[in-house]
Amino acid sequence: MTAIPPAPTVRLDIDREALAANWRTLDAMSGDARAGAAVKADCYGLGVDVCVPVLRDAGARDFFVAHWSEVAAVLHHVPPEQLAVLHGVNTAEEAAYARATGVLPVINSLHQANLWNQTGGGPCHLMIDTGIHRLGIAPADLREPAIQSLDVAVLMSHLSSADEDGSVSSEQLAAFHEAKRAVGARELSISNSAGIGLGDDFSFDLTRPGLALYGGVPRSEMAGRIRQVAYPRAAIIQVHDLKAGDAVGYNREFTARDAMRVGTVSLGYADGFLRSWSAEGWLEHNGDRLPLLGKVSMDMVIVDLTDTPEIRLGDWLDVPYDLPAASRIIGLSQYELLTVLGQRMRS
Ligand SMILES: *Cc1c(COP(=O)(O)O)cnc(C)c1O
Repeated sequence: MTAIPPAPTVRLDIDREALAANWRTLDAMSGDARAGAAVKADCYGLGVDVCVPVLRDAGARDFFVAHWSEVAAVLHHVPPEQLAVLHGVNTAEEAAYARATGVLPVINSLHQANLWNQTGGGPCHLMIDTGIHRLGIAPADLREPAIQSLDVAVLMSHLSSADEDGSVSSEQLAAFHEAKRAVGARELSISNSAGIGLGDDFSFDLTRPGLALYGGVPRSEMAGRIRQVAYPRAAIIQVHDLKAGDAVGYNREFTARDAMRVGTVSLGYADGFLRSWSAEGWLEHNGDRLPLLGKVSMDMVIVDLTDTPEIRLGDWLDVPYDLPAASRIIGLSQYELLTVLGQRMRS
């Protein structure tokens, strides 16, 4: 017999319409270019099986993951020629897998170019390093035969500081224009989410948003146009009363001054609700703020219900997850706030 598990007490609701709308907004902001979609790290923690079909149905045709281990899940939803692996191929095993699946590697170095050529060549993308010094081939190496013999679909580079003002992005843009003269490629791409906010000069043929698809706002140009997508929610699993002097949670960091009513919530740092929320944080119920009391535990957190007597066992609370606001409160980046969300949220 297979028993059906009961309903979970913590969950991540995805606003699919907002996700589709964000892709369309970013596609429109990309000018003549089309927007792709970075779907690495399980769609930034929100779930490939939920998000990739939405992005595909909205119109995305160019998907990016970081690892070969992420490919199989995405191929349930999109054809292999629409998927690329940003880390490229460093081993014969990776190159064989690329060929077997038909997924494109993003070639990042002379080593990778040689390997790709020696194992049979074929279409690939090529990443040029214009200053992030992370992955990517140095512009000085572009005239090497191993690069010249590549069949490059998209020639790309990656911006280090597109979420800041200043001259760095335009310097990278100039280096990209210079470098592209050395390589024959069918299409060009430089912008991540923040780069899309820098305007049409950065659009080329294809943009590669990730963060902003999922509700992140990396630049003010996107404020008010990008919608929240991720809504973590957790249920109350116990309600009880405290007397004056009762303390709460590990190390008893909160002590009640007066009688209080508190709720224990099925949400903890194993779900990505980190201890850094403890000091400033709250959960919400119909817009009412319920302050956190004491430390966040692995699987639980305690909230003050004194002013909300209507809240009961089993009621669902909202985690405040407007990404720019949450980032300001707890000091994690908007990226980290998404990718930290735990597996239990998606079960
Ligand atoms: C992750 C990534 C992106 C998406 O970046 P966001 O800042 O999340 O929009 C685009 N291009 C490359 C190469 C990446 O690694």
